[in-house]
Amino acid sequence: MLKLSEVKSILREYNIHPSKRLGQNFLIDQNIKNKIIGSIRVSEEDTVLEIGPGFGALTEDLAKKAKRLVAIEKDRRLYDFLVENLSCSNIKLINGDILQYDLSNFASCRTATCEVGQVIVGNLPYSISSPILNHLINNRTCIKSAYVTVQMEFGERVSAFPGTKDYGSLSCYAQFYGVPKILFKIPRGAFYPVPEVDSCFLKIDFGKEIDASIDQAVLFKIIRSSFEKRRKTILNSLSSSDIFKSKEEALKCLEKSHISPGRRPETVSLTEFITLSRSKQLDTCDIV
Ligand code: SAM
Repeated sequence: MLKLSEVKSILREYNIHPSKRLGQNFLIDQNIKNKIIGSIRVSEEDTVLEIGPGFGALTEDLAKKAKRLVAIEKDRRLYDFLVENLSCSNIKLINGDILQYDLSNFASCRTATCEVGQVIVGNLPYSISSPILNHLINNRTCIKSAYVTVQMEFGERVSAFPGTKDYGSLSCYAQFYGVPKILFKIPRGAFYPVPEVDSCFLKIDFGKEIDASIDQAVLFKIIRSSFEKRRKTILNSLSSSDIFKSKEEALKCLEKSHISPGRRPETVSLTEFITLSRSKQLDTCDIV
């Protein structure tokens, strides 16, 4: 991995000013790099897809663990640097935007239950962590797991449990489709330029079966409405949304789901939201 002085001298040589828009904070801490590489579970048959390789802090070490590595870098100047400097034969470099790629193109196996698969890795550009998470979820059937560096606060929200201040729509969304877990904290000083916040290394497993009988549109409408006003009770939040025809209908659905109407939304688990969405879905709460 490049040392700070080397990163600075390459930036000068290639006339690159790290772009905030592209989230260009480059990893310069060897211990953190070792920790990242050591925590990623990849079999020799897997494909690794690296998002935003930058100067390749992780790229060659990742390529050594996998059958092949595809790295997508949006910045042409960094892509050119990588083409000139990376030496592993199983690396495919692409100059492009990760959000524009159908991730199944790179997967060797298209089902989540398959032993061989695609592992996503990246120190993510922070400004697009949410769209990237969305993109991964939309392509989850061809992803075994994702290992990503994200802002600490984002990682905490993704992996939060009910009853905590970080628990909300994002937690429910991520945990419905995957199993997220923060592996460790990364202090801001591990990057150059130093970002304004600390980060964490987040793992999300995507092997989970999704129950096809759940109406996901209804479920996420209920979840979003519930968390819109966190201080309200779940009954009041749902009553002021357009999901239920009336407060009475919302109350009936909550009762059928065994959720006390006076509870705060942040205490309601994903399983309870699913039960609530089923009772709405089945239309068993109509007031006659
Ligand atoms: N992996 C490198 C490291 O750890 O030093 C760089 C990480 S830096 C936080 C994020 C990288 O993602 C930058 O190289 C940036 O140019 C690249 N990037 C930003 N937006 C991207 C996008 N939409 N698609 C692919 N790469 C992107």
